[in-house]
This record gives sequence, structure tokens and C-alpha cells, in this order.
Amino acid sequence: MNLILLGAPGAGKGTQAEVICKEFNIPTISTGNMLRAAVKEGTEYGLKAKAAMDAGALVSDEIVIGILKDRIAQDDAQNGFILDGFPRTVPQAEALDEMGVKIDKVVEIFVPDEKIQKRMSGRRVCLDCGATFHTEYNPPKQEGICDSCGKELVVRKDDEPETVKSRLKTYHEQTAPLKDYYAAQGKLVSVEGQEEVADTSRLVLDALK
Ligand code: ADP
Ligand code: ZN
Repeated sequence: MNLILLGAPGAGKGTQAEVICKEFNIPTISTGNMLRAAVKEGTEYGLKAKAAMDAGALVSDEIVIGILKDRIAQDDAQNGFILDGFPRTVPQAEALDEMGVKIDKVVEIFVPDEKIQKRMSGRRVCLDCGATFHTEYNPPKQEGICDSCGKELVVRKDDEPETVKSRLKTYHEQTAPLKDYYAAQGKLVSVEGQEEVADTSRLVLDALK
């Protein structure tokens, strides 16, 4: 089963991807994670990507389509996959179609902008091990310190309020049109993001039955 998770930044795509991954035993492919890894490694496209990411803008279609193509060609993706954060533009969706990748369903997780801004402002990440926390919804045992490795927690640069605003704008302008794109193919299902992660998961899994 090949799935796409659609939704604004901070709608909880990553969290729901993990749930689907366990339920159906298919890997999550997150272009955001792959790009962050490339930035960390300092690869050529990582350097190009960093500026766009820090500004809340999109990385070029050419770069993300390239890394996505390589990733879905790998062995573990042959029985299906969950795309988290791809496609984010109509040309990216068209590229998938042109590659002959058959998408079974597109699940949109809908969360209003105001809620997203609130969620993102409390997000804290450990730059060392990647663990994420939330000051209100998922606080670390000791404020500002990672539960897993004891390092300091920080606000990811693209989670700063001004950047979140840009990311939401980018989402509405460039990514939201994909709803029509996939609705026209009869593949779109929409789920409303709930306060409790587990409640959203139930809706998402129901939508996949
Ligand atoms: P979120 O879902 O929280 O917005 P991601 O981790 O999916 O964040 O992505 C982080 C950043 O990486 C995006 O803001 C964007 O700059 C870049 N990025 C990720 N996926 C894509 C994509 N498919 N096309 C263009 N840029 C992307
Ligand atoms: Zn850590």
C-alpha cells in the first residue's frame, strides 16, 4: 500500500506516520528528515536546502524529486510506503505520476492555523539525538533537558513564530492545491486532527480500512 500524508506543518503527519508504519509494516519516507540529514552531513544539496528550510520556504522540486526517487527504489519500499512531506507541490505530484508510482490513498490531517501556531511555539527538540518534546503536551522530565540523552533542548530554527507563519503561507499557496489534485483522482480522505494523538490515530486508521 502506497500512502501520502498531507497536512500543514505541525499537523502531526510525522506522529501519525509512525502509527501507520507499525500497523501496516511499511516504512515512512520523510523528505524533511532526509533533507535535515543532508544538511547535517553538509552534502552539496544539503547546503542548498538549508537556506530554504531556515526561511520556511520549499526546497527546489528538482532536489526533492531526486532524493525521493532514490529512496523509493530501495528494497524496503517495495511492499509499500508512507510519504510524509512529499509531494508538497503540484509538479512533485505530477513527477510521482510520471514515475509510474501508484498511490492508493492520500490522507489529509486537517488542523486550523491558530492551533498549529500554538503547537509549534511549544515544540522543543534535542539537536543531539532528535527526540522531540512539547512544553505543554509532552514536557521533558526536567525543563530544557532531553530525557533520552541529557543534552539541551532548543527551538528548531524553522519552529520560530515568524518562520511558522511563512511555512503556513507556503503550505496554503503551494501544497493545499494537492487536495484538489488527489480529490480529482478519487484518493483523498480528510481527517480532523484531535487534541489527543491517539484519537487522531483512530480516525486515520479507520480512513485506511
Ligand atoms: P513540517 O512537516 O514540520 O513542515 P518537514 O520536516 O516535513 O516539516 O520539512 C521541513 C522543511 O524541509 C520544509 O519546510 C521544506 O523547507 C523542506 N521540505 C521537506 N519536504 C519537502 C518537499 N517535498 N518539497 C520541498 N521542500 C521540502
Ligand atoms: Zn537527546
